[in-house]
Amino acid sequence: MRKLSIALLVTFASFVAAQTQPDLPAAAQKAMNSIDAEKIRATVKYLSDDKLEGRGTGQKGGDMAADWIAAQFKSYGLVPAGDAGTYFQNVQFYGVTTDPKQTRFAFVPKSGAEITLKFADDYVATDQTHAEKSEIDAPIIWVGYGINAPEYNWDDYKGVDVRGKVLLMLVNEPPSDDPNFFKGRALTYYGRWTYKYEEAARRGAVGVILVHKTEMASYPWKVVRNSWGGETSLLKDDKDPKLKSAGWIQLEIARKLASAAGMDLDKMLQDANSRSFKPVELPVRVKETLVSHVRSFASRNVLGEVKGSDPSLAQQAILYTAHYDHLGIHPDEPGDNIYNGAADNATGCGILLELARTIAAAEEKPKRTILFAAVTAEEQGLLGSKYLGQHPPIPARNISLDLNYDDIQPLGEPQQLVVTGAERTSIYPLVEKVAKDFGMAIQPDNHPEAGHYYRSDHFSLARVGVPAFSVNEGALFKGHDLAWGEEKQRDYVAHRYHQPSDEYRQDMDFMADAKLAKFGLILGWEAANQANLAGWQTGDEFEKARKGP
Ligand SMILES: [Zn+2]
Repeated sequence: MRKLSIALLVTFASFVAAQTQPDLPAAAQKAMNSIDAEKIRATVKYLSDDKLEGRGTGQKGGDMAADWIAAQFKSYGLVPAGDAGTYFQNVQFYGVTTDPKQTRFAFVPKSGAEITLKFADDYVATDQTHAEKSEIDAPIIWVGYGINAPEYNWDDYKGVDVRGKVLLMLVNEPPSDDPNFFKGRALTYYGRWTYKYEEAARRGAVGVILVHKTEMASYPWKVVRNSWGGETSLLKDDKDPKLKSAGWIQLEIARKLASAAGMDLDKMLQDANSRSFKPVELPVRVKETLVSHVRSFASRNVLGEVKGSDPSLAQQAILYTAHYDHLGIHPDEPGDNIYNGAADNATGCGILLELARTIAAAEEKPKRTILFAAVTAEEQGLLGSKYLGQHPPIPARNISLDLNYDDIQPLGEPQQLVVTGAERTSIYPLVEKVAKDFGMAIQPDNHPEAGHYYRSDHFSLARVGVPAFSVNEGALFKGHDLAWGEEKQRDYVAHRYHQPSDEYRQDMDFMADAKLAKFGLILGWEAANQANLAGWQTGDEFEKARKGP
């Protein structure tokens, strides 16, 4: 899971036993009842064992995990849905590491002294073209937020030709409390750094320099530095245009750059908040020599399906996803250097496997096909799911819904449900109904400005138009008060999240995982039997992708 802040959760609900859905066949109820928390435990125990070395993408342990998941799919009788009649979808990657010793980065003003930057302390940059050496000598254009969002009548580019240029821009989006303007306080995809790079590359820019401001990025420079300081993984088969230099600079460096340009950074930041903002070419060039170490590696998504029982609907599908990769083994680190990833995301895999096992065993199958995908390289930037979204075994327009599971804390029986993004889809009334039947209150995202929706694998499906969201638990558990659950979440983020200590423990209580699996089974089954495919609310940012070109 790519989680950078914990949600503070505040509502309360009482537990009601899950009831039979009157419009669902008995087979669905029976499948649901056979979901077994102890089987989820067994999966988590196996996948997070030291033997699997933290399931790193492109590492031995990651490959072992993929083989093992495929073997489970086979034992359940799933139909292979990968390449050439196998359970595997091969995904090719480049691993790119910027060489800090040979890489040079300088601002050259028309008048005045050159400003030479220090890698990691002042800036980071990655060559997305995976060349071993790229040279840039280009003018800098200040483009504010670097956003073109016609639905909000906002265009920072104003038709300026940025081909061959390097663009200086801000993370996040224009501040607003108006829900009709960039969704108010919530972060839309336009605010994410990934969008900024993609939009600039689409317009032919050669580089982007993002200005890092802690309160705007919602994470400190240290996070940027750690994430971009090591190897960056890129999909080989990615149709999107790429930047020679995708970088960030510290706020203080931006201040120096502005003053070398004879401008005032604070005024620039202010101007960027206006709809009438126009791009400004600075009297400063950027000179970069990017030297990268590039390696190739492969990994696999694991795909299996249960064919739909209605011949007229079997070409359409409900998709369940969970990433199986984690951070692998870090041989240079002293002490325990295996990132076992028990919670993140052996738990999601345990749920995915229980859904696959029980649906495959059902006497009567859902009307639409049910597709199961254990995806790779989530921790590398949602890359396995991005590949799946671009190469789905069933066309994206025929996938009604993706339910994703990522990091379900085994803390006992949850009484709250977090399904951020579900409210943006036409399936939401059904989500509410099923949640109610399971005695779970739907908990809204209390930190919408952090943009969690764009940080897990369901987003890769949403961007190709598939209504998609993650199913997670809130902080209220049976037999405990809210403070207990919140403390458990804080403790996890502080002491185990993305650390070698995210390990299997005997005292884990997989009721949470079993309950969310049951919830997902009923929701998915009902969606599979609905007359129509799910869609997005009118005006949603993904509606366009759903409708197709
Ligand atoms: Zn993670």
